[in-house]
Amino acid sequence: MPDAGAAPHGPLYAVAIIGAGFAGLCMGKKLLDAGERNFIILERAGEVGGTWRDNTYPGCACDVPAHLYSYSFRPNPRWSRAFAQQPEIQAYILQCTEEFGLRPHIRFNTNVERLAFDERRGFWRIVDHTGREIAARVVVGAQGPLSRPAWPDIPGMDDFRGAAFHSSRWDHAFDFVGKRVAVIGTGASAIQLTPEIAPKVAHLDLYQRTPPWVVPKPDKAFSNGLKNLFAKAPWLHEAYRRLVYARLEWRAFGFTQYPELLRFLERFAVRHLEAQVPDPALRARLKPDYALGCKRILISQNYYPALCRENVSLVTDGIAEILPGGIRAKDGTERPADCIVYATGFKATEPLAELEVTGLGGRSLAREWAQDGPEAYYGLTVAGYPNFFMLVGPNTGLGHNSIIYMIESQVAYVIDALRLLRAEGADWMDVKPGVQDRFNAGVQARIRKTVWQSGCHSWYQTASGKNVTLWPGYTFEYRAKTRRAHAADYAFARAPAKATA
Ligand code: NAP
Repeated sequence: MPDAGAAPHGPLYAVAIIGAGFAGLCMGKKLLDAGERNFIILERAGEVGGTWRDNTYPGCACDVPAHLYSYSFRPNPRWSRAFAQQPEIQAYILQCTEEFGLRPHIRFNTNVERLAFDERRGFWRIVDHTGREIAARVVVGAQGPLSRPAWPDIPGMDDFRGAAFHSSRWDHAFDFVGKRVAVIGTGASAIQLTPEIAPKVAHLDLYQRTPPWVVPKPDKAFSNGLKNLFAKAPWLHEAYRRLVYARLEWRAFGFTQYPELLRFLERFAVRHLEAQVPDPALRARLKPDYALGCKRILISQNYYPALCRENVSLVTDGIAEILPGGIRAKDGTERPADCIVYATGFKATEPLAELEVTGLGGRSLAREWAQDGPEAYYGLTVAGYPNFFMLVGPNTGLGHNSIIYMIESQVAYVIDALRLLRAEGADWMDVKPGVQDRFNAGVQARIRKTVWQSGCHSWYQTASGKNVTLWPGYTFEYRAKTRRAHAADYAFARAPAKATA
């Protein structure tokens, strides 16, 4: 337990940001723009980038067009192609970090393990993996929902003698040439990496539990002429960005209000499958039996062709056990493997699960969220945890548009909340429980009508099927509603023994 009641050991920061990915860096940049220099970004790794630093598997790319998957205030007219690949995105993040002057604010190799609010002195005690304490009035959690790998629980996993790694922790030392490889999972990561490694390996077994809906990827390289034009005419570049945004945003209409509208996209996906997979038996096993959009729609030109290769087998019988030298399927078939790639996704429904957060009166966020999944007010604030903000918190993820848009909306809200805190002359602000409850009742009522709750189970949902990850509306609606932090939504208080910097 942090040293409750004592004055801060060391400097008292105005803001501590946890995580130096897209969200944390955006928060840092906007604090600087607002004139705030007394902040620190705590990053568990040795470099910035978050998910784009960690995911280095072959073929890793973003499925949101690059011109939109970048900061609106730092456009990049020179993206090489419509859907940027991981190295180019990571290079953009590194460049932004330098340009924004954020590096001096980042403390690397600092894994935050505990947060406890000291209500007497009005600040958060933040404890890292070494037991060191950092003090800040405000904490912004920007760890990202896709930062912690989800490992399956399959008997025998620990006894496997070959190489085994998660897609987001790629072992670049492993040489795939001539090896027998098992890939478990058929989500966004698996469909990108499978076509890249398939040509190298002796044999690849792809273990599919649920087939994804896959539509063509409208990817293309941008010509130098277009890049120069975007660079010379920022208004044109901005117009293009808006066009891309509108093209993606209309889908929210189908996802959240009229799932029937997605049927035509479903026919499009079936035609894609038929065009790329000539074998009717394989096609039948690849055709999903749930509504398109229920799980994330995947985009790929090379996934189905990879599955048609002689050296690739699609295994749909389920996994019974991992053996020291391979995998036994539920039908009893044993397939040897030199390497298992776990493309099994992330713990998206358990944000902050590895972080102990203690709020007012010693309440524990992990305990509260364990009952019915994570909940917050606009994904940003949680009653009982004053001056604690989250970026891409509960029910603010997207299935249809760029998360950077949501991040920028949330960062603007936090900046406005800090203004409000000052204006109220308070030391801390705490969202009212009734406000939070009403908000979440509304979110869950809306989300029940969406395609995401139409019968499939996805990583958007908790084990009980509650969707705690997605925003059930339009992104412009979210931005409009979070434009200002309203005093009526919060309780404000002064710390009786206020700590000073
Ligand atoms: P994912 O979409 O959650 O896919 C995980 C896959 O593993 C699913 O096919 C799942 O099957 C399977 N799986 C999980 N546990 C299993 C088990 N015990 N046995 C067999 N199969 C199992 O994870 P992801 O592919 O890493 O992608 C996660 C998210 O990251 C994406 O949806 C996306 O938001 C993001 N991402 C984005 C990009 C991009 O292009 N921007 C690329 C990669 C990832 P079930 O479907 O049956 O559960």
